[in-house]
Amino acid sequence: MKKILTVLFFTGLMFSMIACGGCGNSQSATAKGFGGDLTVEVSFEEDKIVSVEVTKHAETPSIGTVAIETLPAQIVEKQSINLDTVSGATVSSWAILNATKEAIEKAGFDPNDYMSKSAAVNTQKTSETINVDIAIIGAGGAGMAAAIEATQRGKDVIIIEKMPFAGGNTVKATGGMNAADTSVQANEGIEDSVELFTEDTLKGGYYKGNPELVQVMAENSADAVEWLGTIGAPLTQVSFSGGASVSRIHQPTGGAAIGAYLVEHFVDTLEKLGIDVKYNTTATEIIMDGEKAVGIKANSSDKEYTINAKAVILATGGFGANEDLYASYREDLKGFVTTNHPGATGDGIVMAEDVGAGLIDIGEIQIHPTVHQATSIMVTEGVRGDGAILVNQSGKRFVNEMQTRDVVSAAEIAQEGGYAYVIFDQHLREGLKATEKYVTNGLTTQADTIEELAKAIGVDSSNLASTLSTWNKAVANQNDTEFGRTTAMEHDLSTGPYYAIKVAPGVHHTMGGVAINTKTEVLTAEGDIIPGLFAAGEVTGGLHGGNRIGGNAVADIVVFGRIAGENASNYVK
Ligand code: ADP
Repeated sequence: MKKILTVLFFTGLMFSMIACGGCGNSQSATAKGFGGDLTVEVSFEEDKIVSVEVTKHAETPSIGTVAIETLPAQIVEKQSINLDTVSGATVSSWAILNATKEAIEKAGFDPNDYMSKSAAVNTQKTSETINVDIAIIGAGGAGMAAAIEATQRGKDVIIIEKMPFAGGNTVKATGGMNAADTSVQANEGIEDSVELFTEDTLKGGYYKGNPELVQVMAENSADAVEWLGTIGAPLTQVSFSGGASVSRIHQPTGGAAIGAYLVEHFVDTLEKLGIDVKYNTTATEIIMDGEKAVGIKANSSDKEYTINAKAVILATGGFGANEDLYASYREDLKGFVTTNHPGATGDGIVMAEDVGAGLIDIGEIQIHPTVHQATSIMVTEGVRGDGAILVNQSGKRFVNEMQTRDVVSAAEIAQEGGYAYVIFDQHLREGLKATEKYVTNGLTTQADTIEELAKAIGVDSSNLASTLSTWNKAVANQNDTEFGRTTAMEHDLSTGPYYAIKVAPGVHHTMGGVAINTKTEVLTAEGDIIPGLFAAGEVTGGLHGGNRIGGNAVADIVVFGRIAGENASNYVK
C-alpha cells in the first residue's frame, strides 16, 4: 500500500510540475489588434500572473494605447482576464485579453481559473466642487485648441472628457487641414486667397453654409497653421483635395494622418501647460444663473462634480454615433453604421438645447458609401479613385462608382441587403498604401481568380466573372456603356490575386448643430447670445452647409477652437 501511495504521490508531483510548466517563466502570445499584430509577454510565479507587458503593437495612438497602458496592470491586479474592455478601444482591448489568455494556456494553466469578475466597486459617489475661469466639455480637437488658447491667455481652465482618452473624432482625421495664403503655399508658389477658400467652401456646401462663419474660418486659417507650428505641430506640406480650386490641404511632413498627429501634440501641450483634464467624466448639464451659463455638472464612476465657471465652452463633437438622435432628424439614416468614435453621441446638442440654444442645419449629415460594417473602418475613396468597382450581391455593378457620396450611398441602399463589395486587384493594392491596412485588419477577402473570389464572398461566380470582363473592356475602350463612368479608368482589374471588401453606407459627419456667431457665442433660435456659453467644432452648425469638403473639419476645430478660447477669455476678463 505504501508503495502505491508513493507512486501516486510522485505521479501527482510530476503532473503538477507539468501543469506548472510556466512556473517562474514568461510566455508570449500574439493576437490581432486594430492596427495589426499585438504581442504580450506574460510572466508567472507559480500560477500567479506577475506581469503583463505589450511588447509589440501598431495600435492607434491615444485610443489603442490607452488600452495598452491600463489593461495589463488590471490583469495583474485582478488576476483576471474577464475584464471590461476600454471604452472606444474594444479591438485593442480584446487583442490584449486574448493574447494573455493564450499565454496562460501556453504556460500550462487553465484560462478558466482567470475568469473571476472583480468585486463590485463601491457605488457611493462623493461630491466635489471646482472653481475655474473656463470649463470646457470635450477633449477633441476643438476643446483642446480652446483650452490651449485660453491658458496661453492666462486663464484657469479645466477640460471634462467622458472617454478614457483625448481625441474624439479628431484622432480619426486623415486628409489634412485646409488653409489659404499660408507660408507653406507661398514656398511652393501656390497662389491662394481667403476669397477663393471662402468661395470653394460655400460652393462645396451647395451655398447653404453661413458666409460669415466661412469667411472667418478662411481668414484665420493661415494664422492657425502658424500657431500649430508654435506648439510643436507644424504642417509642412500642402496638396490637392476634392472641392478646392488650388493645392490647399496642409499636412504633417510625409503626409502622416493629421488627426493622430494633432491629438498627440495637443495632449503634450496640455500636459506642458498643466491643464487639468478629467477623463472618464461626463458632463450632464450646463449650470445657468438666469440667462447666463455659469458652470457645468459632470460625473465619473465615483464623483459628482459641480464645476463653477465664468464661461463654458461646448466642444463635444457631433452625434454620428447616436443612431436614435440622427434618425430622429433623418429617418432615412436608420440602421446605418457610423465611422464615428463611440463618444459622438450629441450630448452637447442636448445640453445646449436644454438652455435654449438654437440648432442650425441639423438634418445635414454626411454619409460615406464605403464603410466596412463590422469594424466601421472607412474604405477611402482613393480605392475607387484608383480603379476599383462596386458590385452587389448578385456580382453585378449598379452605379457609376465615381459619383458623389450621397448618390453612391443611395444606389447601395437600393441593392438587395443594402450593401456592396468593393472589388480590386493586386495591381491596385500595390499602388495604394491605404489598402494594406484593410488587408492587415482582415477586411479583405482574397482569391487567386475572380471565380474563387466570388465563391469566397458567396456571389454568383459567372456573374462576377462577366462583370469583370465587361468592366475591363470598358477600361480598354475608355467607354463605360453601362453606367457612364468617365474617371478612374486608367487600369483594368486583371492582375490576381483579387480582393473584395463588403461595405455599406455609414454616417460620417454631422454638419449641423448648435447655432453660433463668428465669436463662437452660442445663440438662441431667435439669434440672441446666451452669455457665458461658447461652442466650437462639430457640435456647431452652419459652417459646412449641405456638404463638408475634405480638410474643413480640421480647419473648423483649430480655427474656431482658438476663437472660442480667445472670446471666452475676453468674456471672463
Ligand atoms: P471636435 O472635432 O469638434 O473637436 P471630437 O469628436 O474630436 O469633436 O471631440 C469631442 C470630444 O467630446 C470627444 O472626445 C467626446 O468624447 C467628448 N464628449 C462628448 N460628450 C461629452 C460629455 N457629455 N462630457 C464630456 N465629454 C464629452
